[in-house]
Amino acid sequence: MSKHHFRLSQGLASLAVAGLALLLAGSPMASPPQSTAAKPEPEMGDSILTVEPTAEPVYRPDRRPGDLLPRKEVPANLSAVVPILMYHRVGHVPAGSADAIRKDLSVSPEAFELQMAYLADSGFHSVTLQDLLDYLERGRPLPPKPVILTFDDGYDTIYHHAWPVLKRHGLVAVFFVITDFVGKDGYLSWEQIQGMAQTGMDFQSHTRNHRDLAKSSREQITWQLKGSWEMLEARLKRPVRFLSYPAGKYNQTVIDVAREQGYQAAVTIIYGATHSALDRYEWRRLRIRGGDSLATFVKKLNLVYPGPPASAGEPGAAGAPLEKPPPGRNLRSPAWRAGPWE
Ligand SMILES: [Zn+2]
Repeated sequence: MSKHHFRLSQGLASLAVAGLALLLAGSPMASPPQSTAAKPEPEMGDSILTVEPTAEPVYRPDRRPGDLLPRKEVPANLSAVVPILMYHRVGHVPAGSADAIRKDLSVSPEAFELQMAYLADSGFHSVTLQDLLDYLERGRPLPPKPVILTFDDGYDTIYHHAWPVLKRHGLVAVFFVITDFVGKDGYLSWEQIQGMAQTGMDFQSHTRNHRDLAKSSREQITWQLKGSWEMLEARLKRPVRFLSYPAGKYNQTVIDVAREQGYQAAVTIIYGATHSALDRYEWRRLRIRGGDSLATFVKKLNLVYPGPPASAGEPGAAGAPLEKPPPGRNLRSPAWRAGPWE
């Protein structure tokens, strides 16, 4: 049981005793103060970290590297279980389309609405990759039930079908943009990106033109990674520090160049949700598929889904086992990690 629950039940027990005494005395003041009991502050539980918990998940669109907290004494292998959901398109696939890949990559607007409503109603807090890194590197607390929403490729369908839903539910998301494709048919325009960024949406790199980085020369990789952050930062005037490997393809040279180019972390398409600063260039994600029911979505979110079905060309996807951190690894985790997704 978490410290928070322990304290809450302690509090309720003393309220019950006090209420009983008041009842016996015939007082009308027996009801507990609902306002304080109903809205507990997020707590850090048994965390060894000394930083103060934040009351609310705060997205600071004006954040610059200089705003980051100084490094705390955080264990190098500190880990966090945070589902990073991977989306591509949100929209309808044209009726009669036989394009199986496109169907798999497209979540319908209705399903997306249900999924986002579920997150908001179930107490999940959307955070950014920077928030996750700030926790792992500097001990800056995460809110209870954190989740990271990511969208690859920058399709224009997300402007029409995902952005309004995210705004309505108070959620933020990370969009990985292929910078040379911006403004092309089917992709977001810079005007759309800037409009979304002004509402707190986060834009990061998915390279310049989505070539297979694992089959590229070091020079080509540099061209892809440098050109995309330069373009995004020039347009958005905010730091670009995260990368999504096109089709999940990468190798050690790709990681080396990403580090050289100032990327702080990168996401893959390998199934999983436990992250640490040590594997920051290989963070795992949970793919949300076009055919997923709400029940499947909830299972994925709670990490009780036994991995995606085998899919050609996706490293780590086929037969990926349910991720289970070794015993003891999470002893220093915040209280929110005692959730059902552990
Ligand atoms: Zn992609």
